[in-house]
Amino acid sequence: MEIGYTKIIPKVEEKPLFDYDLLIIGAGVGGHGAAIHAVALGMKTAIVEVAEMGGTCVNRGCIPSKALLAAAGRLRQLQDKETLKALGISVAQIQVDRAGVAAHAQGIVTKIRGDLTRSLERLGVTILPGWGKLVDPQKVSVTQGGKETLVTARHILIATGSYPWVPPGIEIDGQTVFTSDDALKLSWLPPWIAIVGSGYIGLEFADIYTALGCEVTMIEALDRLMPSFDPDVARLAQRVLLTERDVETYVGMVAQKVTPGKPVVVELADAQTKELKEVLEVDAVLVATGRLPATENLGLESLGVQRDRRGFIPVTPQFNVLKNGEPLPTVWAIGDAIGTMMLAHAAAAQGRVAVENMLGQNKTVNYRAIPAAAFTHPEISFVGLTEPQAQELGQKEQFPVAAVRSYFKGNSKAIAEGEAEGLAKVIYRPDTGELLGVHIMGAHAADLIQEAAAAIATQTPVQTLAEIVHTHPTLTEVLDEAFKRASLTLTRS
Ligand code: FAD
Repeated sequence: MEIGYTKIIPKVEEKPLFDYDLLIIGAGVGGHGAAIHAVALGMKTAIVEVAEMGGTCVNRGCIPSKALLAAAGRLRQLQDKETLKALGISVAQIQVDRAGVAAHAQGIVTKIRGDLTRSLERLGVTILPGWGKLVDPQKVSVTQGGKETLVTARHILIATGSYPWVPPGIEIDGQTVFTSDDALKLSWLPPWIAIVGSGYIGLEFADIYTALGCEVTMIEALDRLMPSFDPDVARLAQRVLLTERDVETYVGMVAQKVTPGKPVVVELADAQTKELKEVLEVDAVLVATGRLPATENLGLESLGVQRDRRGFIPVTPQFNVLKNGEPLPTVWAIGDAIGTMMLAHAAAAQGRVAVENMLGQNKTVNYRAIPAAAFTHPEISFVGLTEPQAQELGQKEQFPVAAVRSYFKGNSKAIAEGEAEGLAKVIYRPDTGELLGVHIMGAHAADLIQEAAAAIATQTPVQTLAEIVHTHPTLTEVLDEAFKRASLTLTRS
């Protein structure tokens, strides 16, 4: 039961006009979140899934990657002899069993997939295995093993997710040249691996492979690494996660041609001129260049829906699918398939909001308040705008922007833990105290960011945040310190 929420009871009909109130295509985190919310609000719900329950996050994304990162993190701590010595600990010999690390990840995937499936079954959600395709705005065909069944629903929600994008010229063999789908199996440890793409997936794998003793080269087409991060955090991350770990980096370069084999041959070209600059011969290549929506063959064209250039489904802010710029009242889409913020918790949030809108609400998602994290060691997290984005908005809307920083090296808990590398950066309006963005790199940054996300979601200004008492000694005091500094600089009386 939800606290503080008024349940919306749909109109009861004598003979149902539809098989279901809601039919969801895709049982990833987005579809799952929508299904459990729909059931809680009294909707008869079914979910169509063509592959494994749980989608990308559970099977090929968040969960297995975090399991591998957990092993990588533990290994780093054990390898950090200096910090261990300062704590009065010495470790004689560390042994890594690659197959054991891989099995740990797979075991967690199996457990969470089972939990998720059972949670749907327990709630009475009908699971329909097969390929779902829209026949009309209230009818879906489900095809399994050559057999087609037609299912009707008052509302249809598309939550079909995404798959890795592989740039032209790169040949995937799944053994020596692969995407995250195969990398997560950790079927071998290449002595030298090139990672194409420096987004969060590339960074997390660089963390895993370097911890496991592999040599890593990172290739980024844009002119700086980690282009989506705030520049201060990107700089720190580059030093701590790449330079100090001897990760070789190429920026402004594209892997123009990658040929699998032993060795894998990587032709590096200037990203602008496409002129061939260098040829690398490595043991493996991980392609982490982004993801494309899984929206082919869903019957959208027959409904007159035009996907965008990359295949994302156009939607209103309320998640109605758009046909010629007009919302289709019974067809909805969320998650990676719409591409607004390709994260698991964003997909789940969109699913909940879409369901409420089906029942007559008019809700939207506040993306400014949705945090994101890279689970490297140390972690990186952020919510809201980067400093350049905030400056740009400030110029456009004529308001001042300021930023303060606080450092983990001044935090007692971080010092005691021997994890004093890191910073928190708070970007805000000095005239009102409004929080515009928060960026953290340091131990447990992915957990610490939630306070800032809550503050942005509830529009709590820095002067109020500065008065909230934080437990001592905890890492949360890193943000406390930054909020206090920010509140001292406010220009309004
Ligand atoms: P998906 O999870 O992709 O699910 C879509 C489902 O639809 C799939 O099961 C698919 O089989 C099914 N499907 C597709 N077409 C049809 C059809 N026609 N009929 C029936 N079924 C269909 N996000 C985070 O928030 N935190 C992280 O730490 C994180 N780590 C990640 C690490 C990696 C390596 C990757 C690749 C991604 C990571 N993500 C992370 C992103 C996250 O996994 C996605 O944003 C999330 O899974 C999107 O959820 P979704 O429900 O939109 O789609």
